[in-house]
Amino acid sequence: MAHGNFALPCAIVPRLRRERDQSQDNRSAFWLFISEHCERNGCVLMKIALTGNPNSGKTTLFNLYTGSNQYVGNWAGVTVEKKEGTLSYGGESITLVDLPGIYSLSPYSMEEIITRSVLIDERPDVLIDIIDGSNIERNLYLAVQLMELSVPLVLAVNMMDEVEAKGDRLDCDKLSKLLGVAVIPITARKAKNTQLLLDTAVELARTRDYNPRSPVGSVRYDNNTAQAIRDIYALLWEESRLRELPLWFYASKLLEGDPKAAETLKLDKKTLDQVERLVQAYEATSPYGDRETMLADARYKAITAITDKAMVKQGAEGSLSLSDKIDLVVTNRVLALPIFLLIMFIIFASTFGPVGSFFSDGIEYLLGEVLGGQVTALLDAAQAPGWTYGLLIDAIIGGVGGVLTFLPQIMILFTCLSLLEDSGYMARAAFIMDRLLHKIGLTGKSFIPMLMGFGCTTPAVMAARTMENDRDRKLTIMIIPFMSCGAKLPIYALFAGTFFAAHQGIVVFSMYIIGMLVAILSGLLLKNTLFRGKVAPFVMELPPYRLPSPTVLGRHVWEKCKGFLIKAGTIIFSMSVVIWLLQNFNWSLHLVEDNTQSIFASIGRAIAPLFAPLGFGSWQAAVSVLAGLVAKETVVSSMIVLYGAGSQAELATMLPGVFSSLSAFSFMAFCLLYMPCLSAFVSIKREMNSLKWALGTALFGTGVAYVVSMLIYQIGKFFVA
Ligand code: GDP
Ligand code: MG
Repeated sequence: MAHGNFALPCAIVPRLRRERDQSQDNRSAFWLFISEHCERNGCVLMKIALTGNPNSGKTTLFNLYTGSNQYVGNWAGVTVEKKEGTLSYGGESITLVDLPGIYSLSPYSMEEIITRSVLIDERPDVLIDIIDGSNIERNLYLAVQLMELSVPLVLAVNMMDEVEAKGDRLDCDKLSKLLGVAVIPITARKAKNTQLLLDTAVELARTRDYNPRSPVGSVRYDNNTAQAIRDIYALLWEESRLRELPLWFYASKLLEGDPKAAETLKLDKKTLDQVERLVQAYEATSPYGDRETMLADARYKAITAITDKAMVKQGAEGSLSLSDKIDLVVTNRVLALPIFLLIMFIIFASTFGPVGSFFSDGIEYLLGEVLGGQVTALLDAAQAPGWTYGLLIDAIIGGVGGVLTFLPQIMILFTCLSLLEDSGYMARAAFIMDRLLHKIGLTGKSFIPMLMGFGCTTPAVMAARTMENDRDRKLTIMIIPFMSCGAKLPIYALFAGTFFAAHQGIVVFSMYIIGMLVAILSGLLLKNTLFRGKVAPFVMELPPYRLPSPTVLGRHVWEKCKGFLIKAGTIIFSMSVVIWLLQNFNWSLHLVEDNTQSIFASIGRAIAPLFAPLGFGSWQAAVSVLAGLVAKETVVSSMIVLYGAGSQAELATMLPGVFSSLSAFSFMAFCLLYMPCLSAFVSIKREMNSLKWALGTALFGTGVAYVVSMLIYQIGKFFVA
C-alpha cells in the first residue's frame, strides 16, 4: 500500500474513528492505512478510559501515566467529573480519561451517568477497568457490565501489594482465561507492572481484535438470563437505526428495567410491549420474580463461579482483619465521637504548638528584619520620598509577609488532615457523623464535602455533585462555607495568638467546632423550611485502613502550599497595594497626611456602626472584613496595612488597644462564618447554576455570622465584666 506523507487534519480524526467503527470488517485495509499514517504523524488517535469502583486506584494510575496531579483520596467519591490527560506512547499521543468511580452501570447517580455517557457516546478505543484485588467479586460486577459494551477491555487487578500481604493467592492467568479478557496484576502506587498494562491496552486498541457486535470476553450467564438477553438483542437488531449502538448492553439493561435505556433508544410502543413480554417470561422463571434482582443474581453467580477457581483466600472467613479491629474501637457507638474530637483537637494543638511558631518566627524574622531592613537601607540611600516606605515596607512586605508567616501552620494542618484522609480515617468520620446527622434528618453524604471544606470551599462545593438529590445538594452547598477553610487560619492564628496565647489550640479548635455546629444547625433549619423532604439513604463503603503514601501526602501538602503561595503573590499582593492606596488617598485622589481622611476611612466609618453590636466597630476592622471577601487571608494582610504595622508581630502588639478578648473572639467567629471568598462564590454559582441561589447562600452566611457574633459578644459581656 502506498502512503502519501500528508498531514491529517485533526478535525477529521473523530470522523475516521466513526467510520472505523462502522466498517463491517473493523480491520479493513482502509483502517490499517489510516492508523499507520497516524502513528507516523503523531495524531491523537487513541483514547483510553479508566473505569472502576470508587477507591480502586484509578486516579493514582492516571497521575502515574499522565504525570498530572489529580486528587487521590482514600474514600469513595473523590473524582466527580471526568478528567482528561495526555501521555506520549512511542511518539504517539494518547488521551487518557479518568472517570468517576462506580459500582454498576445503572443510571442513578451522577457518577454513573457521566461514566455511561462517556463510554457510550465517546467510545474510547480501549477500556482499562481497575479492580481492587482485595475485593474481586464486587469489582467484577462492574466489569461484566462493561464487557457488554463491546469495547476492548483490559482488567487491571490493583492493590496486589495488599493482596499479597494478606496472603491471598490470585491466579491472574486463570482469571484471564475464564473471563476471556486480558488481566494484568498491578500495584499502581509502586508503579509495578503498570507499563505492561499500558502496553497491553495499546496493543489491544491497535489490533482491535474483537467483534463490535458481541460482548467482550466469555462470561456466560445462566440459560434463562442468556436467552432473555439474546431475545431482546434480536428484537433491537431488527431496527436498523439501532445497529451502531452497543446492543448487548442495551439488551441487558432493558431486561434489568433500566429507565434510561428505553428512553435513549426511543423504542416505539410495539417494541416496548414485546420487550415487556420477554421480561415477564423471564421473571416467571424464578421465584424472586423481580428482573433487577434476578439479573444481579445471575451476574454474581457467573462471577463467583470464576473467582472460586482463580482465587485462594488465605484469611479464614469470619476472622477479623486489622481494619475491622481498628474499626471496632474507632466507630464504636460510644467512643466514636470522643475519639473524633480528640483527634481533631490534637491536630489543632500541634498546628499551633511550638514547632509551627518556631518556623513562623523564622519567616517573620527573614521577611521583616532581613528583607525589610535591606529595603529600608536601599530607600534611605536613594533618599526616597516618605510614602514609598509605607507602600513597600508596610503594605507589600508587611501585608504579604504577614500572611506568609502562617505557611508553616498551614503545612502542619494539611499534613495532618491528609494523613487522616489517606489512611482512611476521614471516611470513618463521615460514617460516624452520618449516624448523628441522620437522627436530625440530614444525610451523612453531606459530610464528605463538608470535611473537604476544612481544606478549601471551592473543591468542597464541587464534591457535593455526588449527591443525587438536588435538594440535599443545594442544602449541602449552602452550609459548606461554614466549615473553616485553610484561608481562615491566619486570622485565627493572629487573634488567638494575641488574645489567648495560653489556650491557642483550644480557641482555634472551638472555631472549627462552632463552624460545624452552625453548619449542622443551619442545615436543620433549612431542612425544615426551604428543603422539606425525605432524606436520601447514605451508603458508603469504608475503605480499608492504608498506610498513607508519602507521594500522595507530599502532593496534597505541596498543592495546598503552592495555592497559598500563589495567592500571596497575586491576590494578597495586589490587595495590599489597593488597600494602601485607598487608605492613603482621599476622594479627590490626593495623598492624605492622616489616614482617617482617606477613602477607606470614610467607607469604613459608614459601615462600622453595623459591626458595633458585634464588638468591633472600628473602621479598620470593618474595612478588613470587606477586604476578606476577595480572599480570607487578606483580612490579616489588610489589617497590617490599615494599622500601619510593619509586620504581623507588630500588629499583634497593637491589637489589644483596639480589641478586647471578647470582641476578638466575636471577630474570629464572624470571619469564620460570613460569606465565602470570591472564588468560592463563583464555584457556588456554577454548581447551583443560579446567581440567585449563590447570592442567597452569601446573604444567608453573612446573616448567620452576624447573629452568631452578636450573640457571642452580647451574651459574653455579662460574663466578662
Ligand atoms: P480512585 O478513587 O479509584 O481514583 O482511587 P485513588 O487513586 O484515589 O486511590 C484510592 C486509595 O488507594 C488511595 O489511598 C491510594 O493511595 C490507594 N492506592 C492506590 N493504588 C494502590 C496500590 O497499588 N496499593 C495500595 N496499597 N494502595 C493503593
Ligand atoms: Mg479518583
